[in-house]
Formats: sequence, C-alpha cells, structure tokens
Amino acid sequence: TSTKKTNQRIPEQRKFKTGPIGSESVAKNTLPNSEEKDDAEVDKKVLREILEDEIIDSLQGVDKQAAKQIFAEIVVHGDEVHWDDIAGLESAKYSLKEAVVYPFLRPDLFRGLREPVRGMLLFGPPGTGKTMLARSVATESRSTFFSISASSLTSKYLGESEKLVRALFAIAKKLSPSIIFVDEIDSIMGSRNNENENESSRRIKNEFLVQWSSLSSAAAGSNKEEADNSNNDDKGDDTRVLVLAATNLPWSIDEAARRRFVRRQYIPLPEGQTRYVQFKKLLSCQKHTLTEPDFDELVKITEGFSGSDITSLAKDAAMGPLRDLGDKLLETERDMIRPIGLVDFKSSLEYIKPSVSQDGLVKYEEWASQFGSSG
Ligand code: ADP
Repeated sequence: TSTKKTNQRIPEQRKFKTGPIGSESVAKNTLPNSEEKDDAEVDKKVLREILEDEIIDSLQGVDKQAAKQIFAEIVVHGDEVHWDDIAGLESAKYSLKEAVVYPFLRPDLFRGLREPVRGMLLFGPPGTGKTMLARSVATESRSTFFSISASSLTSKYLGESEKLVRALFAIAKKLSPSIIFVDEIDSIMGSRNNENENESSRRIKNEFLVQWSSLSSAAAGSNKEEADNSNNDDKGDDTRVLVLAATNLPWSIDEAARRRFVRRQYIPLPEGQTRYVQFKKLLSCQKHTLTEPDFDELVKITEGFSGSDITSLAKDAAMGPLRDLGDKLLETERDMIRPIGLVDFKSSLEYIKPSVSQDGLVKYEEWASQFGSSG
C-alpha cells in the first residue's frame, strides 16, 4: 500500500532525496493565512510519513520494526536551534563549523586529507550548552538530526537493541547528511572494566562501535570493503554521517570509543562576557530596570554559574514581581506589574547556587589538558 500512496504523492525527483525529511515541502513565507498553514502542516506530516515508509521499504537487512521506532523516537523534527541562540562558546562554534558544518555543506572541498571527522565529543560540566550546540550544528549544516540516549536504545528483548543500532546507522546513511547525537555517551560507552556492565549494554556498545567503524573507509581498516559497498548503495552517502556526543563524565568513556572521537571539544563554564550576553538575551523581552552597572554586578556575582544555572536564576528572578503581589496577582492588570530589578536577582541568589563545584571543575580542566583537542 505504501507504494500506491507513494505514487500518488511524491514527484519522481523527490524519491530518495537525502536530507531532512519534510523540511523542504513548504516555504513558510508563501503562506497567506493560518488555515492554509494548518493544511500545509498536515501535508508536511503526510509527506513525511510517506517518505519514511518508502525509506523503510528500501532498506536492506534492516529490521522494519526497528526502523519505524527510529523514525518515531529518534529523528528530531522542528524546534530548531541556531548559533545565535547560544551565548558565547565562540571557539566551540568555530571548531564545529570547521569540523562539521562546512564539510557537510561543501563536501567537494573536504576530501582526502581534508576528509571530515566521523566523531566529535563535547565534554564539560552539565548545563553549559552541549545539547544546544549539537542541535544548532544540525540546523546550520541542514542535516537530519538523530538524538539518542541509552534509554532510547535499550530494549528488554535480547537482540532488539542491536537491531535498533543497525537501523539507526542505515537510516542515517540514507538520509545523509546526518548527525547522530548521543547524549550522555558515557552511559552507552562506559569503560569496559566496569563491573556493572551487563550483557545487553555490552552488546549495544559493540554493535555501535562496529556500525560506527563501517562509516569511514579510511578509518575502518578491515571494514573497508563493507564501507565501500555502502558508498555505492543507491543514494547513501556515509561520508556525511557524524557521531556527535556529549558527556559530563568524559573520564568514564571506554578507551576504544574515546579514540574514535578524533575531536574532543571542551565546553567550559561561561566567562563573564558570555554570562552578560545570556542575561541580556533572557531579559530582552521582559520589562526590567537593570542598568549597565547592574548587569556588571550580576555578572560578577554569578561567577561559576553554568548556562542552565543562569537560565534558572533569571526565571526565578522574573517571578519576583509576581510573588510580591500574592493573590492580588489575579486581579492586577498586566501593565501594572512592576518591572524586574537587580533586587529580584539578589533574592533568588539566596537559594539558586552554582551546580558545579570548584573541585569538579579542576577534574574537567585536567581531562581537557590530557585528552581535549586544542582550539
Ligand atoms: P548540556 O547539554 O551541556 O547539559 P544544555 O545544552 O542542555 O546543556 O543546556 C541546558 C539549558 O541551559 C539550555 O536549554 C539553555 O536554557 C541554557 N544554556 C546553557 N548554555 C547556554 C548558552 N551558552 N547560551 C544560552 N543558553 C544556554
């Protein structure tokens, strides 16, 4: 039945088109009213489902159920993040542009010696923007974004998890350029010596490593033939599939996996200037009385805060004017609510504390100097 649907709905040249599914179907600025927009959304969804069915049918040696699950749970649609949404982290952005975005957009320039890396690790304290960075890389490089975590791959049925991993890589190749983003990679690629490692996580890890190796003809060694074959597979382009991972616990990653992450980018706590930009951004659409000296003070008293601590602080401070009102809030006109002030931040600071300790930071810095990529 999917063939029938396909014939009705998809123009010939759309078949097997690689890239994010459905993203090309409707140009937003051509929509005059919301009814048409709703129709367009429905169309987009239908088109996406048809394309998914078609892709699943075309994959060989891949479990169909597993492939369906990948589309349902792991391919991320919508809700795009852009570079500008992320405060600071200029060197990380630059590094990601060079390693991923440019090679994905101009594959012709990145061959041979300039062949793009297959693995990049973002490590650092929690809440520093690693996930945001990964999502913006997907947006900026116009890639299909697969977001996986240990729980999304773990199945209680023996062997099912490996099928999911195989389906994941097969679909990523088919829809390349693709980014397979693995959050908390340490929970999938934990050290082999870990006594708690059970049979099922060992199998997931091994299958993941095998599939990952098969991506690159240069790095694959004994898998070269397999990689070459997959290169010939209709439109699959495995030179533009990247495993991008994030971790707060870089030291617990298995050594074999660590080596495969050719680039390891440290994402540190935000510096003063970055905190300033983030506060400005967060307050930009709020009524507030903060002057430049107030912002300077805010930056000073939030030394050691992560990006997510800053977001939590600003959210809490924004509640200050409402808290003052108590029940009166229900009948107060919006315009009569007082603006947010430095005083609100100061009172929130009494219970919102930095989530990373000094000792914790030292551990990251040490790991970064031993294993991190410079730049
Ligand atoms: P991580 O993956 O490093 O744990 P996230 O990317 O999930 O952190 O960030 C958590 C939240 O913190 C984000 O949703 C955002 O609100 C905020 N945040 C963190 N870093 C930044 C940043 N550099 N710029 C803007 N917001 C940030």
